[in-house]
Amino acid sequence: LRANFSVIQKETGFINGLITVLHDITEQEKIEMDRREFVSNVSHELRTPLTTMRSYLEALADGAWQDENIAPSFLHVTQTETERMIRLVNDLLQLSRMDSADYEMNKDIVNFTSFFTRIIDRFEMSKSDHVNFVRLFSEVSHYIEIDTDKITQVLDNIISNAIKYSPDGGNVRFGFTVHDNMLKVMISDDGMGIPKENVGRIFERFYRVDRARARSMGGTGLGLAIAREMVEAHGGKIWAESEEGHGTTIFFTLPYDLEDFDEAGDEWA
Ligand code: ADP
Repeated sequence: LRANFSVIQKETGFINGLITVLHDITEQEKIEMDRREFVSNVSHELRTPLTTMRSYLEALADGAWQDENIAPSFLHVTQTETERMIRLVNDLLQLSRMDSADYEMNKDIVNFTSFFTRIIDRFEMSKSDHVNFVRLFSEVSHYIEIDTDKITQVLDNIISNAIKYSPDGGNVRFGFTVHDNMLKVMISDDGMGIPKENVGRIFERFYRVDRARARSMGGTGLGLAIAREMVEAHGGKIWAESEEGHGTTIFFTLPYDLEDFDEAGDEWA
């Protein structure tokens, strides 16, 4: 009986060991594969605007600069492409800062209600008239400890997508709720939506549902990946719900354990 027991133990030990080894290899291979894919994506993303610019600059150098009907639009293309490359490089720097070990959070206690309101106001001032904003939250103060620069960027990225993908006359709705020690933010639009099989992937670096269309809208494909990293660095989660042809809702949560401060009311505002 004892012998049997030890054999079983041995077997279990061996199998456990084997599983661990296999697991390590796949994990390492996956990291390496992701890294290679990332470098290839970055190269591709930069090559596209650069080759576009090269052909427009060649045409200008070959004489188009003298044609006042053509030259301005050719220059405009090179300008747009340059701006997109700058956005892309800035996004990449942002991601690489977050990947580095000395990545720091700068947290402050803020009244989330006024913080969120200020960001929505800023977009409302500069947005075109093709979308309407609807605020679905009360003015009650809720205090939360966050890195305001980072959560500002999360909201900027989500809201600019909601506006970008909104149809004429569409509504962009803003809301948040607080329960179970979580603050849950919601931003929804009436846009074209995202096919079911792609919804889970929009937070991946460089993932776009419609590559050509997203590029023509000036996107870098990194906005939601950055948003995800920032939300997760706060200990929160981010996800999307979408119905193709009807709209998209982005949710994210932030840990909220400052209920005591709510009582303090405007003293903290
Ligand atoms: P991009 O710079 O292309 O907007 P993002 O990371 O911000 O990159 O978004 C990734 C992709 O997710 C977009 O290209 C688009 O296909 C899809 N997406 C994001 N937000 C929305 C939205 N509100 N409605 C429809 N599609 C969206």
